[in-house]
Order: sequence, then structure tokens, then C-alpha cells
Amino acid sequence: NPSKENYDPIKDACWKYDERVPYLALAKTLQKIEETSARLKIIDILSNYFRSVIILSKNDLLFSVYLCINKLGPVGNNQELGIADMHLMKAIAQCTGRTLFQIKSDVARNGDLGIVAEQSRSNQKIMFRPKALTVQTVFNQLNNIASISGHSAINKKIDKIQALFVSCQDCEARFIIRSLAGKLRIGLAEQSVIQALALACTLTSPNQEYPSLILNASEGIPSEIFKKKVEEELLILKTTYCECPNFNKIIPVLLEKGIKALPQLCKITSGLPVKPMLAKPTKGIQEILQRFDGIEFTCEWKYDGERAQIHILEDGNIKIYSRNLEDNTSKYPDIISDIRSIVKSDVKSCILDTEAVAWDKEQKKILPFQVLSTRKRKSANIDEIKIQVCVYLFDLLYMNGESLIQKPFIERRKLLREYFQEIEEKFSFVKSIDTNTLEEVQEFLDESVKGNCEGLMVKTLKFEATYEIAKRSHNWLKLKKDYLEGCGDTLDLVVIGGYLGKGKRTGHYGGFLLASYDSDNDEYQTICKIGTGFSDETLTKHSEFFKQHIIPKPKSYYRYDASHEPDHWFDPVQVWEIKCADLSLSPIYYSAIGLVFPEKGISLRFPRFLRIREDKITKEATSSQQVAELYQNQDQIKNLTKINDKFT
Ligand code: ATP
Repeated sequence: NPSKENYDPIKDACWKYDERVPYLALAKTLQKIEETSARLKIIDILSNYFRSVIILSKNDLLFSVYLCINKLGPVGNNQELGIADMHLMKAIAQCTGRTLFQIKSDVARNGDLGIVAEQSRSNQKIMFRPKALTVQTVFNQLNNIASISGHSAINKKIDKIQALFVSCQDCEARFIIRSLAGKLRIGLAEQSVIQALALACTLTSPNQEYPSLILNASEGIPSEIFKKKVEEELLILKTTYCECPNFNKIIPVLLEKGIKALPQLCKITSGLPVKPMLAKPTKGIQEILQRFDGIEFTCEWKYDGERAQIHILEDGNIKIYSRNLEDNTSKYPDIISDIRSIVKSDVKSCILDTEAVAWDKEQKKILPFQVLSTRKRKSANIDEIKIQVCVYLFDLLYMNGESLIQKPFIERRKLLREYFQEIEEKFSFVKSIDTNTLEEVQEFLDESVKGNCEGLMVKTLKFEATYEIAKRSHNWLKLKKDYLEGCGDTLDLVVIGGYLGKGKRTGHYGGFLLASYDSDNDEYQTICKIGTGFSDETLTKHSEFFKQHIIPKPKSYYRYDASHEPDHWFDPVQVWEIKCADLSLSPIYYSAIGLVFPEKGISLRFPRFLRIREDKITKEATSSQQVAELYQNQDQIKNLTKINDKFT
């Protein structure tokens, strides 16, 4: 229930009914969020801001949401900011009359370019007060800046940044500069924005009149009923966002018809990427047979490539999205050119879930992921492609205007095989067997490994077999060759620091500090140091790469203990896949702190480097929740819990 003592963005920014939202109101809200650590309080602050927008200037709700999640449009829109600090520093220097050297040394001392921008601006004497920025202008200007390309693009961008910067007042420069850098970094996770939006909409109807309603909507409603209503509506918004991750579609429905209308009006559709279903790890066949006791399931090869969600649109267009919903269409002109031949004539539109795998034409076999990662990432020219891919089809989520995700997998698979066909060495259905005997699963696993696959994906066929968007589900289990010994899964961790090497590693890093990502608090929590699993050559490559990402001091959202402070801190820019012997409680590593044990985090024993996860952004790293689950799933921990249960 939003508390009344919250800061009031309306008064502070002189924001009036039916006028565009002053950017200052949003900047002050972000500032308040930055000063707050409790997640519920953050949601409270943001939902009050959204409520004010809904009542006073509802046309700015969409821009406000995008600015809060630091995006310039829906997923699949390729506009990105992420302007290098160097260019931003240049723009600030030129606008404020300060030297680049002064700005650089302030950043080195302070660690945050946004704050330095704000201070540089506020120290300046201004002849006249610039026209106040609005949320709409800032959003449009950021889009303009991102869209500049071609000859002397960077100078043109700097000009536009300067124009925006001179209009800033108060703390606005801090957030504009951070938005331009592509990192808002105030501990505001996307899920919290969605929660705040749901709360604001539950509390506020767009037709209510200002000022009768502000902050009073829940009065008179019994709190239990109110709580249930909020939870129900949040679930609707979250589910809708997974199926239709596009605020351009969601916000108008929210404003015109309310949350309850979302499931009808914002559905899965071709052209809009869907957050993929993911699998839970398992350690062996025995565990699978136990989990799926009495339930029909199928085993498929787990191919080691890159997820490719292929959309055929009504208008004939084709789009391909990555696991993170990035638009990969221009990476795969070869898939685009052939996809039509696998589709039978009555398919007008569809969404296929597939894995694109590097293919050796001479030897006619699958190549490892590392080979695929050497392919050009954007704007590939079909005639210059050296690495051929074979696409392995494993699911069908949508066809001819109809969502199939609620159908059991056995039906989706039947439709997939009925309406689509294979083309040798280019498109193939995944290899699978429907069996429940240990021997056959074992044999199939061995075959998959011989066939250069990672292991198996085991999926329910009939019972609890819907496609669960965005979920790491118990109904998909993965059995990787790497897990068969070890902790049950590999972890994908973010490199946040480096330790200088000694002996033959002098001049390079000899070890690195790794962290998992905690989305609730939007922070990276340390999990272990790593120094093994690297060849000399990879170590040199990592060192060269990370030397370009050194930052003067740790980010405010790094949670670490002084005892393992590295020689150099890094920006969070790369994810590594790590194998370990097991996970243990730790007083000095902070991953999943509080989730298993109040004051302790979790750390990895004997971590080894496997590979870089090029396909994951750092926020897609193994989450603290997953780390806690992996810890608790270890046999020794399960047995200990059983013994404790017996004696308490
Ligand atoms: P990892 O890929 O390291 O296992 P992840 O978090 O990316 O981790 P998981 O849920 O663990 O994803 O595994 C599912 C991934 O495996 C999918 O994203 C897909 O790219 C790949 N994959 C390969 N073969 C299949 C298959 N037959 N069915 C589903 N996914 C498959």
C-alpha cells in the first residue's frame, strides 16, 4: 500500500494536470530510488510516480516505463545506446568548459560519470534558465541519438548530447548521461518496474479525476481483498509481458481497458519474440526416472549451438530471435533463404523454437559451439558465409494466428512434424526417443555425446507438458555430460575483477573474481575466485580483453567481502561458463546470501573455466536463486536435511 510520506514528484517538479511530464519528476524519482535499498519501498516510490503519470499525463506512461527500464523500444527493436564513456566525457567537457583531464580525474575519484556530469553542470553559471525537459523530449532525443549512423556519426551524436545536456537542471544530467551510457544502475530491475506498474494500475483508474484520488485509492477496501487483487493483477501483467514483451502494445490496453483486458488483447503473435522456456538441471538418469515416475516423457539430444526462435509473419517476412530476444535475423541470411522450403503450403505464420548448430559439410557432422561463435554477428552476407549451420527444430509455439503454448508437447510435436519437413544438412527435427527404461536413456545419452551434443533434454509429453514461457521449468530437464560428475550443473558467472599473475603469468591476470546476478536487488554477488581451466593462450586473451574494462573502483552494485578484493575491478561485460566440484556455504562470498542461511552466502569449490557464454548478457548469468537451488540439490545437503528432520 503506497505510503503517503513518499516524496511527491508532482510538487517537486511543478507538474501540472494535462501537461507533458517534466523530466525532473522522473529524475527525482530515480534519485529517490537510488537512495533506497529495500525493494518494496522502491516499488512503492515508482508506483506513486506511475500513478501520477496515469492521472495527470497518461500519454507519457509509455516513455516513462521505457526510461525506467533503460530501453528505447520493445524487444527486437535494434536501437541501442551504450555510448562509450570517452565520448560522453568529451561532450560534458565541451559543454561545461572543463578539460577532459579534469573530468577524467573526477570520474577516477568518484567512479560515476553521471554524478560527475551533474556536478560539472551545477558548478556552471547559467545566463538564462533553459526550457524544462519533458519525459517525452528526453525519450525522443535518446532515440534520435541512437539512430545516428554512417559518416562522422559520433560527432553528430556528441552535438545532440550537448544540446540535451545544456537543458538539464538539478539531477537530470546524472540520469541522462547514465541512460546514454546504457546503464541506469540504480538497483531497479525490470521485474520491479513491472510490479510498480501493476500496482499503479490496480490503484488508479485513468478516468479518475485529479486531485481526488492521489494516494487514496485503497482506502476503504479491506486489506486482504486488496492484497489479493494486487497479486492477481500483477500475475496477469507478468504473464502478458512474457507472451508479448512489448510495452507499445501493453500500455495502451492498460490505460484504455485495464489489466484484466490484457490476456485477450496482448497475445503471442509472430513477429514478437517470446521469452523462451528453459530447463532444470539433473545429475543423472536415476534422478530423471524418479522425477518423472508414472509420467510419459521424451528424451531429445541437447544440441550445442545457439537458440534460434524463427518467426514467419503473415506478410511473408521472417525474423530470427536469440535466447535473449535480440534480433538475429541479419546473422542468418542462409536460414532465411531456405526456411520457406521446410514449410508446407497451408502455414501462413508460425513461431518455431530451434537450435542453430555449426555443421561440417565435408565430414557431415555437428561442430562444437565455439565454431558457431566465429560467425559474423550482424549483417552477414550470404555469399561470404564460411560456417554452415544446421537448424534443429524442437518446438512449435504458434501457427496461423493460433497460440499452441497451452497444448501438451505431444500435440505440438505432432503438428511440427506434420506441417514442416526436413532438408538434409540444413533443417532437421531433433533426435528423440520416447522411453522410460534406464538402459535406453543411457544408450541415447552416450549416442548424443558421440554425436557432439551436450547431452539430453528430457521433456514431459502429456501431463504438465504446456510450453512455459520464460520459465526454468521442472517439466524440461537437462542432463549434460559435464554434470555426470560434479555439482549437477555448470554455472554462468560474471567476471568482475582480476588478480595480477606471478611467475610465468606476470603481466597477465592469474585469477579472476566471479559473481552471480541477483535480480531482486539488481546486484552482482561474488561467488568464487578462479585460476584454473585456462590454457596460456586463453589467459592472455582474457587479460587483453579485461584490461580494456578496468574501472577505478567497484560498482555500488557489486556485493563482495574485503578479503577477496581484486587488484583490478572490471565493468560487468562478460559471462563465463564454469564447472565446479560442489557448492558450499561461505562467510566471505555473498552469492545467494540469506537464501539458504541468514548471514552466509554460497561459494564454488574447485571451479574450472569451460568457455565464454557469448550468447548471454551479464544479467542472464546464473541467478542467486538458482545457486541456492543447486546448493540444496546436492546429495550431501539433502541427506543432511533428512538427518536434521529426523532429530528435530
Ligand atoms: P545451457 O545452455 O548452458 O544449458 P541455458 O540456461 O542457456 O543453459 P538451459 O535451459 O540450460 O539453457 O538449456 C536449454 C538450452 O539448450 C536452450 O536454450 C537451447 O538453446 C538448447 N537446446 C539444445 N537442444 C535442445 C532441445 N532439444 N530442446 C530444447 N533446448 C535445446
